[in-house]
Amino acid sequence: MNAMKAQPTASHYIDGKYVEDTAGEAIEVIHPADASVIARVHEATPALIDRALNAARRAQGEWAALKPVERGRILRRAADRMRERNRDLSMIETLDTGKPLQETLVADAASGADALEYFGGLAPTVTGESIPLGGDFAYTIREPLGVCAGIGAWNYPIQIACWKAAPALAFGNAMVFKPSEMTPLSALKLAEILTEAGLPAGLFNVLQGRGAVGAALATDARVAKVSLTGSVPTGRKVYTAAAEGIRHVTMELGGKSPLIVFDDADIEDAIGGAMLGNFYSSGQICSNGTRVFVQRGLKERFLERLKARTEAIVMGDPMDEATQMGPLISAEQMEKVLGYIEGAKAEGARLLTGGARLNGPGHYVQPTVFADVTDDMTIAREEVFGPVMSVLDFESEGEVITRANDTEFGLAAGVFTHDMARAHRVVARLQAGTCWINSYNLTPVEMPFGGVKQSGVGRENGRAAVEYYTQIKTVHVGMGPVDSPY
Ligand code: NDP
Repeated sequence: MNAMKAQPTASHYIDGKYVEDTAGEAIEVIHPADASVIARVHEATPALIDRALNAARRAQGEWAALKPVERGRILRRAADRMRERNRDLSMIETLDTGKPLQETLVADAASGADALEYFGGLAPTVTGESIPLGGDFAYTIREPLGVCAGIGAWNYPIQIACWKAAPALAFGNAMVFKPSEMTPLSALKLAEILTEAGLPAGLFNVLQGRGAVGAALATDARVAKVSLTGSVPTGRKVYTAAAEGIRHVTMELGGKSPLIVFDDADIEDAIGGAMLGNFYSSGQICSNGTRVFVQRGLKERFLERLKARTEAIVMGDPMDEATQMGPLISAEQMEKVLGYIEGAKAEGARLLTGGARLNGPGHYVQPTVFADVTDDMTIAREEVFGPVMSVLDFESEGEVITRANDTEFGLAAGVFTHDMARAHRVVARLQAGTCWINSYNLTPVEMPFGGVKQSGVGRENGRAAVEYYTQIKTVHVGMGPVDSPY
């Protein structure tokens, strides 16, 4: 692979243009499949952060005053451009994240384009209400919040950028977005595309940097809202920082989601769902169903077929479209995942398959399945964020619901069964923001997505996102004489 093959035009995108400032500390961008350096960007200096926030603040007022249908048209045009450029964007995403091209071609920029299209269409439908009060009346206006800060994780860089920028922009806000330091590239492409589609300068800005840049955004007086996708510990810090300034937040955080397989389920579908919910993106998905509860009657057959199908997964160069699983994002993440695997063995889980890294320079870990996992094992309690599935046994419906809910997280959950009454009954009792029945990890933009408990606050996508990127102004209208006691 050629050195610096993915070098962007410049590190940042501010006020409608690429901007470089080498005074900021250099961040090397590593291709996870071979550990080569593919780009170098520089962390945003305080002066650049200031410039981006001022640009956003300046641009936001005029943008909010446009007809929503005009704002929406620009976003829908950007969606079309993203789709036209899907292959190039997917290749950048694969270089940056190491996720196989087979995935990025269908799941990353494509999902981002869906968000731009959906929120572009939704923009003109956002209205207030009229409240009759006898002779007087009141009405409400849905107003934008102002300047929103977006802070992204490294697993779905362009999707995360779009899931935040699309509703923010559609409803009249501006955004300053900081991608993860590990995946800085595709947000810049989104900025380019938005400009090409006609978005006025200053409304979508990209600043590179580590946590400190995110923290600077979360504490700045010009920022009205902070939307973070990241881990629970980071969420806690960012939420606290935002609270200091009484800022709005959306927190999309981690999970340890249960996937429950009853013994009447279609076994191949359930295994397919469990594999999707543990191995897609090398397991680096927040909503993964990493605690797979399998009812005893099905256990042995389930494990046998799961092992066979897992061992058939094709690992390799993520740029090869035949590759089904790529590396983990970084050497550090790989070591963390291998540590969890060793810990699981030491705590008595049975390694069914996988468990090792692949030799070579990339950060590859085999798809791994542990059976006979119990609720108290570390692997059943903590988010691994790697291709490691834990299979736990259960007997009864009541028991599995209690155990499924026995976690600090509450992002997602899944149920596989042919008994639909049971499926709905179980889902009603699961403490999770998103539940899937006989499917897993599908997140079409029409559906609200987000967590309960420690997994987050607020919802992205769907009409629900209107609540998180607008605020209500109430207007009371007096129609008669003022009834004053003075
Ligand atoms: P982190 O929490 O480490 O980082 C998330 C983002 O926050 C990064 O851009 C990071 O910068 C930035 N950041 C770090 N510290 C601060 C701070 N003090 N103030 C402001 N910003 C800060 O998450 P990862 O990138 O490691 O992503 C993995 C995590 O994200 C997993 O726990 C996963 O579950 C969660 N996730 C949740 C999703 C959801 O929708 N619920 C979706 C995808 C992932 P930098 O990386 O540059 O240090």
